[in-house]
Amino acid sequence: MNKRWRNIGLGALLVLAIVVIAPAFFGGAGNPQPEARSLRYSDFVERVQEDQISRVLLSPDRGTAQIVETDGRRAEVNLAPDKDLLKLLTDHNVDIAVQPSRQPGAWQQAASSLIFPLLLLGGLFFLFRRAQSGGGGGNQAMNFGKSKARVQMEPSTQTTFGDVAGVEGAKLELTEVVDFLKNPDRFTAVGATIPKGVLLVGPPGTGKTLLAKAVAGEASVPFFSISGSEFVEMFVGVGASRVRDLFEQAKKNAPCIIFIDEIDAVGRQRGAGMGGGNDEREQTLNQLLTEMDGFEGNTGIIIVAATNRPDVLDSALMRPGRFDRQVTVDRPDYAGRLQILGVHARGKTLSKDVDLDKVARRTPGYTGADLANLLNEAAILAARRDLSEVSNDEISDAIERVMAGPEKKDSVMSDRRKRLVAYHEAGHALVGALMPDYDPVQKISIIPRGNAGGLTFFTPSEERMESGLYSRTYLQNQMAVALGGRVAEEIVYGEDEVTTGASNDLQQVASTARQMITRFGMSDKLGPVALGRSQGGMFLGRDIAAERDFSEDTAATIDEEVSDLVALAYRRATKVLVDNRAVLEELADMLVDQETVDAEEFQELLIRSDVRIAEYV
Ligand code: ADP
Ligand code: ZN
Repeated sequence: MNKRWRNIGLGALLVLAIVVIAPAFFGGAGNPQPEARSLRYSDFVERVQEDQISRVLLSPDRGTAQIVETDGRRAEVNLAPDKDLLKLLTDHNVDIAVQPSRQPGAWQQAASSLIFPLLLLGGLFFLFRRAQSGGGGGNQAMNFGKSKARVQMEPSTQTTFGDVAGVEGAKLELTEVVDFLKNPDRFTAVGATIPKGVLLVGPPGTGKTLLAKAVAGEASVPFFSISGSEFVEMFVGVGASRVRDLFEQAKKNAPCIIFIDEIDAVGRQRGAGMGGGNDEREQTLNQLLTEMDGFEGNTGIIIVAATNRPDVLDSALMRPGRFDRQVTVDRPDYAGRLQILGVHARGKTLSKDVDLDKVARRTPGYTGADLANLLNEAAILAARRDLSEVSNDEISDAIERVMAGPEKKDSVMSDRRKRLVAYHEAGHALVGALMPDYDPVQKISIIPRGNAGGLTFFTPSEERMESGLYSRTYLQNQMAVALGGRVAEEIVYGEDEVTTGASNDLQQVASTARQMITRFGMSDKLGPVALGRSQGGMFLGRDIAAERDFSEDTAATIDEEVSDLVALAYRRATKVLVDNRAVLEELADMLVDQETVDAEEFQELLIRSDVRIAEYV
């Protein structure tokens, strides 16, 4: 998500640069310079590397480019097909533009029609992605090139409250909205004002879209939808006119539901200056507010918006007569998960041994979308295995897949690497098991999946997941567990032989430690203060840099405290593993041998070895 956004932001910036720069770029509307010198491609690349090139204007087919050097000289180059060129240019801060078609006036026409910049954007973006990742990425570019922010209309969603499970509170609140839509007269007769806007707040995948569709379905009214994030990709003025369109169409089809997904993308606090498409966003937001104020509540249009970042929304959106109702849609608890599994098990053939109750217990923190995905993955696995029913095995495999990506079973690992990963994972598992208060190990595996060489799964406690409350002791243990992998490598192979494999672990440790000090007030020296206004939302975590609101001295103390915490965790992990070296060896042997060790086998090992949870530290 984050990455995609960055890319889009960049793409949008590039195009903005093109739109703004290109006409004025070479004095005339892209006329080739008659006196142009010509440069060899290799010389050109060299000059870019030496930062001697300030601008590049690519020909429409990108076969040639006109360039301006930093000393103002111009030249022409024949370009070689080079997928790294764009990256090179951006790395060296070269202004890049693509020449519009040569016909006089075509530029102005193109600029005023949306299609041109969008296509251009697609092309450029594609090139850029290619340059970055060497292939792939085409998909995103294609997506991007398509004209977005279309209003979608479903005359009948065919969705009912029966399709949404585990969010009873939200359903109850929305039942009222259904009543309004069905019988507006009953409410107007007694002088009640019908709400105009309902804001659904909750993490992605919890069923907000589904709920909005169910409201439309239950009331048998059409469903209009549009996503806020799409506006951000648009050009100035387009977002606002789309909003106007949307309301015009809705008025013609009232009573109806307008659903705006990711409203935070347009509805951010105005003037918050997050860069990229600010003007566009503000215009779109203003238009939305105007439209919402422009119709009476009783016209039968109800706007349902969804966000996971209510904290960043412009307060104007929440004023009476706008989104004055908020409905929280949270991650489901155990009972909710069980119901959701029930909904998605419909239409799938599950074997008798499948116990959805157990599945619900194993999946704390999963959203409705995760659960739907899980059962679907399990069904796909069953089909691939030529089974007529989905059994527990497929479900177990699917849980792990949803959590960690598919296993890469056929990837070859050298014996040495296998052993190293085995020690690393054994380190995590053992530290986890020997800490006085930590989650139980569910499975240890050295089968690579996703980006991970191996994985140790812990079962998080339902209570902790649900409450979202973590004690200081727990967080300290978590850091020790995360360091356990690296420490095991050090103990076995010596400090000089440690690998880069622990980089994720180290990042996690650093971020936990920093949050303990700056956000959770768990520092002895600084006390219970929150430092740095966090801009990251509650669901997005540390997405966006915190704003600094403290002194240099405090910053230094924070750094000290953070490194103290990390050092402590490191000492604890080391002590646990040194004291239990024999168990570490045995566990690593088991892993090398059988590749996975499950909870029971691990417990047996611990009992057999008579390890004890010691009073460490
Ligand atoms: P959101 O809009 O909150 O991001 P969606 O409504 O798009 O989430 O959910 C995606 C899919 O996940 C739905 O189409 C549905 O299949 C499943 N899902 C999510 N929440 C639930 C739920 N509470 N009950 C049943 N299915 C759900
Ligand atoms: Zn690790």
